Amino acid sequence: MTTTTYPDQIDALDLTTEFTRFVGERLWLDFINSDQSVRDSVNHPDALDAFESYVGWLRAARVLDDERATAMLRRAQQQPTAASAALHEARRLRNVLRGLAEHSGIPGGRAEEAAISEINRILGRSAGSRRVESRSDGGFVRSFVTVGDVFAGLLVPVIESAADALVQEELPRVHRCANPRCSRVFFDASRNGKRRWCDMASCGNRAKAARHRQKIKVHTAG
Ligand SMILES: [Zn+2]
Repeated sequence: MTTTTYPDQIDALDLTTEFTRFVGERLWLDFINSDQSVRDSVNHPDALDAFESYVGWLRAARVLDDERATAMLRRAQQQPTAASAALHEARRLRNVLRGLAEHSGIPGGRAEEAAISEINRILGRSAGSRRVESRSDGGFVRSFVTVGDVFAGLLVPVIESAADALVQEELPRVHRCANPRCSRVFFDASRNGKRRWCDMASCGNRAKAARHRQKIKVHTAG
C-alpha cells in the first residue's frame, strides 16, 4: 500500500513550473492547458498528476486563496479517497472541456453536448444550502454550507467560466495554438481576431526563428 503525504502548508508547493503560466485568457481554457500541452518543454508537468499540484494550480489561478488551499490539503490528508476521486473528476472534466474547446466550430455537436452534461452534473453535485447563523458577538451572518463532497466545489469556478463562454457565444474565438507540437488553447481577444499562438514569447517566437532559418537556407541555396 502506498501512502501519500500532503504538505501542511501551501508554501511547500512548487509553483515555479511552467503550468502556472496562464495564456488562455479564460479560466476554463487555462484549466485545459494545465495538462502537458507543450510537449517539447521539459519543465511542464501535468498539474493534475497529484492532488497537491491540483490545489497548487487552483491557487496559482487565484481560485483558492492561501488559507483555503491549505485547508484543502489538510482535508485531503484526512480524506485521501475523496481527494483522489476529486482529482479523477477534475481530469475527466478537463478532457471534456478540451473536446469543447477544440471542436468549438461545431455548435450542437457531440463535444458541446458532452460538455453541457458534465457541467450540469458537477453543478448539480455541488449544491448547498443558505443559512443564517448567530455570531459570537450577538450579531448574525449569512453562510453557505455545501452538502456532500467537500471537494466538489473546487471545480465550480472553472465550470462557470466554461458556462460563460457558451452563454456569451465565445466559442468561435477559441483556438488551438498554431504550433503543431503545442496543444494549448486560448480565447482570441485581439481586435483583428488573428491571434495564432498561445504565447508570443514561446511558440510565436519559435515559429519566427524557424521562418528566419528557412529564409537564410533559401538564400544560401540560391
Ligand atoms: Zn503554443
